[in-house]
Amino acid sequence: MSVNNEICEAHGVCYTVDPDLFTLDEDGYSNIGRGREVPPGKEGRAQEGVDLCPVQALMIEPET
Ligand code: SF4
Repeated sequence: MSVNNEICEAHGVCYTVDPDLFTLDEDGYSNIGRGREVPPGKEGRAQEGVDLCPVQALMIEPET
C-alpha cells in the first residue's frame, strides 16, 4: 500500500485504525511511502484505514 503525500493532510485517521500499519512522521503526516507490505492477517485493517482516510490519500495496490 502507498500514500500520496501531496494529498495527505495529517488527519491521522489511518493511525487510529492501526498505528503499526499506518505510521506517521513527527508532523502527523503518513510516512508509509510507496509499496509498504501489508503483513498477513492485516489486510482487513489495511483496507479499513484506506477507506477511512478523509482525503483518499491511501491506496492498496493489487497483488502482482
Ligand atoms: S488518514 Fe489520510 S490524511 Fe490522515 S494521516 Fe492518514 S493518510 Fe494522511
